Amino acid sequence: MDIRTNIPLKQYLTMQIGGTARFVTEVHSAEDVRTIVTNSRKEGVPFYILGGGSNVIAPDGRYNGIVIRNCIMGYEEIAEDKDTVTVKLGAGEVWDDFVKRVTRENLIGVEALSAIPGTCGAAPVQNIGAYGQEISDTLTELEAFDTQTDEIVTLSNDDCKFRYRNSIFRTEEQGRYIILTVTMRLYKGSPMPPFYSVLENHLKEKNITEYTATNIREAVIEIRANRLPNPAEKPNAGSFFKNSMVDKWLVDDLLQKYPDMPHFDMGGRIYKVPTGWLIEQCGLKGKLLHGIRVNPANALVLINESARGYSDLAQAREAISKAVSEKFHIHIEQEPLELA
Ligand code: NAP
Repeated sequence: MDIRTNIPLKQYLTMQIGGTARFVTEVHSAEDVRTIVTNSRKEGVPFYILGGGSNVIAPDGRYNGIVIRNCIMGYEEIAEDKDTVTVKLGAGEVWDDFVKRVTRENLIGVEALSAIPGTCGAAPVQNIGAYGQEISDTLTELEAFDTQTDEIVTLSNDDCKFRYRNSIFRTEEQGRYIILTVTMRLYKGSPMPPFYSVLENHLKEKNITEYTATNIREAVIEIRANRLPNPAEKPNAGSFFKNSMVDKWLVDDLLQKYPDMPHFDMGGRIYKVPTGWLIEQCGLKGKLLHGIRVNPANALVLINESARGYSDLAQAREAISKAVSEKFHIHIEQEPLELA
């Protein structure tokens, strides 16, 4: 296994912010994972698993450990019945390549998750979701290397405790499992309305009345292209803030003052309030803060336009959070993970 030293991290992170890593290596198999974890432990070197780097930011200094790039590939149809096809994927596969492939085969279940950057192994970590679909709707199980027991385990959908943009992999079991494969059950048939209104409107505008996986994928790609900047052109980490989960009493209170505030009932007296809207209401949409541009098309995304490093990003994040907190009494949360 090739282990390189003192490697700048920016090249691996779509936000293009971060210092260096003491070591960087790639894993291509479960055996590689076992070897690297065992050796790192023996040497007392911490490790961090990186997928596509599209949802991770890193501090300016040196990460004194080993960054492991998950490059485990593979695509295999493992089961089929009259309604479904089940596919097993290596964690290093590019998520959108998988979506493209299965939508072309007219399989449904992930078409609304088109054009989300990152790898298949990273997708369950934050339970990626878009336009009403989440990976938790189709993921049946995944295989992972358990760094507590050094065994390869199979975790069911339930074991992952998926919730809104969250799972055990970024909460109670953060750092424990290295995802090796994901298994997805896709459906034969056609996507069924009702769709998210933005998608519905787009389909209407384009006079699309036949709902196929490909039509929905193309519509989602077009909508996203207008709202979410391409990281290859404008460095960003997708949604920089999570949507806000707000208690009903506060939503009721805010609606008195802001009757147009969008809010979605999540059950249990909790409402989802789009954080992009909150940031926009603070007058920050399109603003440049410490070299970080609040995306003019969608304030949830922060673009690294001219930041000198992590500290600039941290100051921009602080300014945005403070403005929202002061105006709405809502504490907004960062979505990308931090390499540390
Ligand atoms: P948008 O279309 O501007 O809508 C703003 C927010 O309103 C969205 O975040 C969405 O929540 C919510 N919303 C709209 N219609 C809804 C409905 N019918 N029911 C419940 N909630 C509704 O959103 P955007 O920021 O441009 O993002 C577009 C889509 O891509 C969203 O679904 C977003 O979640 C997704 N996305 C996901 C990731 C990720 O997984 N990391 C990153 C970027 C964007 P939801 O976010 O819950 O859908």
